[in-house]
Amino acid sequence: MGDPQQDFSQGAAYVDGRYLPLNQAGIPLSDFGFTKSDVTYDVVHVHKGGFFRLGDHMARFAESMRGYRMQPTETLDQMREIAARCVVLSGMKDACVSFAATRGAPTKPGWRRPDQCRNTFMCWVWPWPEVITPELADKGASLMISSIVRFPEASINPTWKNFQWRDLSNSLWEALDNGYDQAILLDYDGYVTEGPGYNIFVVKGDRLLTPDRGALKGVTARSVIDLAPELGMTADYAPLTKKDLLEADEVFLSTTAFGIMPVSRVDDHVMANGITGPVSRKVMDTYWRKKDEGWLITPINYADTEN
Ligand code: PLP
Repeated sequence: MGDPQQDFSQGAAYVDGRYLPLNQAGIPLSDFGFTKSDVTYDVVHVHKGGFFRLGDHMARFAESMRGYRMQPTETLDQMREIAARCVVLSGMKDACVSFAATRGAPTKPGWRRPDQCRNTFMCWVWPWPEVITPELADKGASLMISSIVRFPEASINPTWKNFQWRDLSNSLWEALDNGYDQAILLDYDGYVTEGPGYNIFVVKGDRLLTPDRGALKGVTARSVIDLAPELGMTADYAPLTKKDLLEADEVFLSTTAFGIMPVSRVDDHVMANGITGPVSRKVMDTYWRKKDEGWLITPINYADTEN
């Protein structure tokens, strides 16, 4: 259940049946999750002591595991309980909770087939990172349209969450090398997909549009779409091109790990006089207000140490 003598305050983890402080948690080198990136994951936000949209994250995680043909011994209900237990151990009220399932190590050393491995589940809680500083919220980020092409959907299904991040990581290096904050990738047909760890929205008049292809179906993007009517906007998935980005009124990024990030420049296209635009501001403010009000939050019982 987690040794109370141990210090979980910097993060708590569950790996293969054991609770550990995050800095002591790891996986065997022989796990195909490490050697073949044969792993899927999900990340949930804990806001003011409650999980945000836990059911949606669990459903996506289940779908990813099904897609990659992984079946750890823990059931989905047990995974929920383990996640809550990790949060309680850490004592954190604002955090991210990562779930992962790996192919695991071969049951006999040297075996190479994916059906010869014991799938492993792990979960860990880490402090909420304050990515959106007040300055960034006002100024907006700069975004580079990367020269690196996003891997084709025919090779890897982007809606099954994965750590196949080489193209995403390279795009971030390229953006940083060129003086930009963030990157966005196009697919082989020139359609906008996603960036390293986030979805993208384009604002055009009273419409919010996010790519309908080549991207994870983000839970944060879903939240933006759900909130659009409240903002007097329509929102939808649509095919978007580089031109749409360069002619947008505004652009913003969405992800669990930072919420909404306004963008004030895409390549050389400066929007809203180079500061956060009014729609992005409204989306950002509404997203956080709704969460503060408990919208789609599942409270965590911190008194429950045996859960
Ligand atoms: N796209 C990628 C590649 C991601 O890794 C993530 C989040 O980790 C997202 C989009 C945003 O998804 P969500 O809003 O569910 O966090």
